[in-house]
Amino acid sequence: MSTTKELRYEDATPKLVTVERYACCECGVAHTDERMARWCCATSMPCKCGGRTSKHYTFCDNCRSKQGLAEWLALEFAPWDGEFPVGEWNGDEFHWDEDDLREASCDAAESDELTYEMIADFCDSHRVCKCVREPLPKFEVENFLCDHLPDECDMTREQVERIDLAVNAILAAEQFPAAWTHIKRRIDPRAIAAALGVEVPGEKGGA
Ligand SMILES: [Zn+2]
Ligand SMILES: [Zn+2]
Repeated sequence: MSTTKELRYEDATPKLVTVERYACCECGVAHTDERMARWCCATSMPCKCGGRTSKHYTFCDNCRSKQGLAEWLALEFAPWDGEFPVGEWNGDEFHWDEDDLREASCDAAESDELTYEMIADFCDSHRVCKCVREPLPKFEVENFLCDHLPDECDMTREQVERIDLAVNAILAAEQFPAAWTHIKRRIDPRAIAAALGVEVPGEKGGA
């Protein structure tokens, strides 16, 4: 229990204090934190590798791409039996057949004659990955109409089932093909080489 002593306004003489702030060397805005003041108008930051990076990243492009590659190489190979298309995990590219992939690998290496090293390089740097067809979504009338019906209008279970069944039957009968999509599954460059008819060094004759 504390007793509060009276302090009269007239007696409460304030002391003038100066608060330390760090002013940005570029725009002059004052920050309480020295690091924030440095960061304020800085356009680049040091990276742990000794390089420079944009202030919005902790690591430089080079370190980030090395990191990305290490993560990619640590993935297990997906089973792949030579089916196309194959994709590039970093980007929207598809390679639709052997010739397409052969050409892309040769272009990347700026060479006319494809070697296993070029294929392996291409697979790693472009993150050559498996593709699958995602099944088409099923029609659901409740989702389709949910934002458009008044609150008091409840569809009966019977209506929902009847409409969903009918629309999905029509869609199925149309046999629309599903689009291909990349999945994060790495393909063994040796399997790619086999599909392209390129010999893998050290594997002649097979084991
Ligand atoms: Zn500033
Ligand atoms: Zn770096």
